[in-house]
Amino acid sequence: MAHLKEVVKAEEGETYDIELEADLLKANEELAMKNRELLEKNGVMTIDVMGSIGSGKTTLIEKLVQALRKEHRIAVFKGDLTTTIDAELIGRHGVEVVPINTGKECHLDANLVRKALKKINLEGIDLLFIENVGNLICPADFPLGSEKRVVIVSVTEGPYMVVKHPFIFMGADVAVINKKDLAQTMGVEIKNLRADVRNINPEAKVVATNSRSGEGVQEVIDALGL
Ligand code: MG
Ligand code: ZN
Repeated sequence: MAHLKEVVKAEEGETYDIELEADLLKANEELAMKNRELLEKNGVMTIDVMGSIGSGKTTLIEKLVQALRKEHRIAVFKGDLTTTIDAELIGRHGVEVVPINTGKECHLDANLVRKALKKINLEGIDLLFIENVGNLICPADFPLGSEKRVVIVSVTEGPYMVVKHPFIFMGADVAVINKKDLAQTMGVEIKNLRADVRNINPEAKVVATNSRSGEGVQEVIDALGL
């Protein structure tokens, strides 16, 4: 007879917590749809940029802003726990930036974006970038109301970043593989990362970049249809 370990029992209230979480995700989704309606009504194309800390989200947004600000009226929402460092970097390029500090939360949600939307004149812009908090896990569960989602990984994060985070790539329109100039040093094959994205989400466009130098940024713009 098999030796049984002690039974794992749900504590009182645990199931309730799961219900609470489901409610939370549903509430977020409803708010995201409202954000989306508001943005569409005002003709604002919105792009949620997600990726780990240090993958190059801010640098990519800076380069996109530099390349697009002549043809577009741009605003940027910048999610971070407590700082405004990145928001200031982006603000140097003469676009409106709303910093969103989440405190301890490791992702933006539709409610925070809703609050940030109240701070800008939507009629005055046609393009909005949202830099999510650095994290490849829970932002996948929290749509914000954006039309497109970009996920950026850097080759410095190693060869398995894509396969380890399938959910975020499932919802991506564009996957960016950044710091391609360091691929050889890191022993990472860009073609393998591309293949990993293709396996998870054949619809996603994949672009390799060196955001710092600007290489590949035009391809990202094309992939976004901007
Ligand atoms: Mg950043
Ligand atoms: Zn989170």
